[in-house]
Amino acid sequence: MRRYKWRTHEIIMETADTLTIVFDTGEERFGYESGQYLNIRCTIGGEPVSRSYSFSSAPTERYPRITVKRVLNGRMSNYLVDYASDISEWNVEGPFGNFVLHRDMSAETEVVLLAGGSGMSPLLSMLKSIGNDAPAPLLLYACKTPADVLFKSELDELEQDKRVHTYYAFSLDIQKRSGGNCMTGRFSQPVIQSVIEQHIHRPESAHYYICGPTALMQLYQEALQLMDIPVSQIHSEYFDPVATVDVIPGDRDGAKKEVLVSYYEMQYQDAEQQTYECTLLIEVQGGQSLLDAMRAYDIVVSSSCHKGTCGACWAMTSNGKVKMTNNYALTEDEVAEGKILLCQSFPVDDAVSIILA
Ligand SMILES: Cc1cc2nc3c(=O)[nH]c(=O)nc-3n(C[C@H](O)[C@H](O)[C@H](O)COP(=O)(O)OP(=O)(O)OC[C@H]3O[C@@H](n4cnc5c(N)ncnc54)[C@H](O)[C@@H]3O)c2cc1C
Repeated sequence: MRRYKWRTHEIIMETADTLTIVFDTGEERFGYESGQYLNIRCTIGGEPVSRSYSFSSAPTERYPRITVKRVLNGRMSNYLVDYASDISEWNVEGPFGNFVLHRDMSAETEVVLLAGGSGMSPLLSMLKSIGNDAPAPLLLYACKTPADVLFKSELDELEQDKRVHTYYAFSLDIQKRSGGNCMTGRFSQPVIQSVIEQHIHRPESAHYYICGPTALMQLYQEALQLMDIPVSQIHSEYFDPVATVDVIPGDRDGAKKEVLVSYYEMQYQDAEQQTYECTLLIEVQGGQSLLDAMRAYDIVVSSSCHKGTCGACWAMTSNGKVKMTNNYALTEDEVAEGKILLCQSFPVDDAVSIILA
């Protein structure tokens, strides 16, 4: 993970409540994968606020971009939609995330993208990265009305070039429309299954990427489960804070644990960035998460949702036992390798060693 200070290249109003920020990264090359995201830090009302936003650009594009949709009463999204054009310098960190195109996909692998609202953002990035020689992905995209469709002109162009086959559902649109593949009303399990079976030759071996509001994601996931799609081929990215179980293992007043933390510290000397390797033995109070304990020692750790959803605070354990309460970001393999989410992790013994990314 790296931190950057970027400038604005362009702000694009996508719909009435959604805009795209195109970043000027300066001379520095910035690499990421389609489907990944970055964290933006802003000071809002005197307080630091950090949130995650997926790239809507493909890594091959000159300027990375993110797309932000206004959330009712949301701090960061309203601030960005209202004031992005006044911000001259952006504090960003990343890239983060495992929601990327499957690495072992062959030229024949079929891809289905299941989107809702601003969840289209990482899926557009993926669409733009899938080459002409691969089968055209199928996209199911649920929006309230046609006016809420994000990236309509890019999607139309990709459709014309036969690089996607799109099917829309407009939940609040009562007029029947012609000229596009769409339905009025919400997607349902039979509709999802029928559209997939019409367009995908071998649904059982396709890969599925899901991103949107949580209830819609659950509908897509249930439809795929009913079709017996293997879980390993279903990839999901949650934007909304998932309803997490607030379990704190052990006794809040229980024994403190000692944890060894290895991390890098960046300092600026004469405008030059220096990186130092640090190791610190910290005390973690009973019921205190590793993230909170590290913060208490002023160790700089990336984090965003604090719910085990975004994955920004991942770290590696090299020793000892850690209990993780909620995890919606790491794969089973990553957990088996020793990856943890610091915001959801509690040391169980005194032998825990953590290596920060
Ligand atoms: C990995 C990841 C990638 C993301 N990518 C994008 C992206 O590309 N574009 C984008 O617009 N957002 C994206 N998000 C969501 C984004 O990080 C913020 O959560 C969102 O902008 C709301 O932040 P806020 O500060 O405005 O709301 P907050 O002040 O944090 O929340 C205000 C209220 O809104 C609810 N809420 C928070 N987020 C959502 C949401 N997404 N939908 C509905 N209700 C919500 C909260 O429960 C709360 O009640 C992503 C989130 C994650 C974890």
